[in-house]
Amino acid sequence: MPKFYLTTAIDYSNGDPHLGHALEKVGADCIARYRRLRGDQVHFLMGMDEHSQSVLQAAAKGGVQPQEWVDRMASRFADFWARLECSNDDWIRTTEPRHSRSVTELLRRIQQRHPADLYVSEYEGLYCTGCEEFKQDSQIVNGHCIEHPSLELIPTRERNHFFRLSRYADQLLGLINSGNLRVEPAIRRNEVLRLLESGLQDISVSRLRQPWGIPFPGDAEQTVYVWFDALINYLSATGFPDAGFERLWPADLHIIGKGITRFHCVIWPAMLLAAELELPRQVWAHGYVQWEGAKMSKTAGTAVTLDEAIDRHGPDALRYFLLREVGFEADGNFTWERFDERYTSDLADGFGNLASRTLAMLAKYRNGAVPNAADRMALDDVGLNAVEEYARAMAALDLRRGAEAAWTIVSAANLFVQQTAPWALAKAGKDAELDQVLSALARALCRLAVLTSPFIPAKAQSLWQDLGMEGEVARNSWEVAREAPVAGRTTSRPSILFPKPASV
Ligand SMILES: [Zn+2]
Repeated sequence: MPKFYLTTAIDYSNGDPHLGHALEKVGADCIARYRRLRGDQVHFLMGMDEHSQSVLQAAAKGGVQPQEWVDRMASRFADFWARLECSNDDWIRTTEPRHSRSVTELLRRIQQRHPADLYVSEYEGLYCTGCEEFKQDSQIVNGHCIEHPSLELIPTRERNHFFRLSRYADQLLGLINSGNLRVEPAIRRNEVLRLLESGLQDISVSRLRQPWGIPFPGDAEQTVYVWFDALINYLSATGFPDAGFERLWPADLHIIGKGITRFHCVIWPAMLLAAELELPRQVWAHGYVQWEGAKMSKTAGTAVTLDEAIDRHGPDALRYFLLREVGFEADGNFTWERFDERYTSDLADGFGNLASRTLAMLAKYRNGAVPNAADRMALDDVGLNAVEEYARAMAALDLRRGAEAAWTIVSAANLFVQQTAPWALAKAGKDAELDQVLSALARALCRLAVLTSPFIPAKAQSLWQDLGMEGEVARNSWEVAREAPVAGRTTSRPSILFPKPASV
């Protein structure tokens, strides 16, 4: 089985997760689940970025020690990700010893292999505590950071360790242009290429006397800069530098937000080149969840909490809406109105209704047994086309198109029920025809259980069981999507997958 190591960005523990965090995590989870369906040995990493200055400020404001604060936040984030059914295999926190050891070793390795890549110099600039980085003129609008217009930039002058990033621009251009380091989608790749073509400046990789962070190896006065520290989490989680870390490394896919491509597509690969380690194979930078046209983030103000969004129609519905409507590529809007519309049309009336009417007819006309009528029907053609279209979309990480492909089966099957009118066939005693129709519908549901499982895992599993299938739909069931082996199975009376909201 091929290994597939994928990661999400690790989150600052300075405030509760919001819909923007949730989009990234469920998108990555959807990809992880799809790779498992295909039989890959998936290793899915999520975690927390705990050394930032904003964490120190948040802890001070909360009147607790930073460690107590990050412990509390880590458990809050983990609770949310569990509610949203994130199937991560590991959870890394940058305050863990396995991480600090790995950071120290990576820096030592750069010091040994390319000593000229690290040097000491004076730095003066404007620091954004939201981004945890010094901002360049092009990133400042009206005296504020573009990403954090509500925060003050802090003038800072200090002696730091620097990383000779400027040395790597041409090499990175070559690696991205040749596809050895894939940066997707194309709009992000082009941004990164333009940045590299304009040349790179060296970057500060330490801060003077920060009380919260990892000591810089060989310089007790300095702390490793939080971004340099944070990026290394992807490597720490493989066990680096211990023997065997290459079983996971290099990462096959880093999932990040579009605002941090410079760190992941420029600084991180350059750090790895300097340490003579393999580069990640692919970086995917998704867009932002927007609420009334503005980015959803803590510092920009939150209009809707993740709690409310999950409680509205349940976790599976939120996962589906984020990936289908907001999307995993460009920015997309979140509104209650669209959420309610999608819930009703795609989930309650579409998918849920198809499942419940099909299972109810199987119970009523065939005592729950799926007839053994294997003739390939037009509905099977729709299903098999959907499987292929879905596979193409998922390989391209086009999750929206993947969901669309699966839902073509829903609409075709609901139409098929109307056109074939199984109740009329039953009344007229056309048993052979009724067998064909019920059997084709059961195959459609079986394909749907597989294809929708990365998007709505709990509901897909529930349908899988109602169809009389054994075990978990989530593992190695890709061939089932093609063959739909439901003939002869004993189905259950339908569970209500997506209840109609009381107000509708
Ligand atoms: Zn900022």
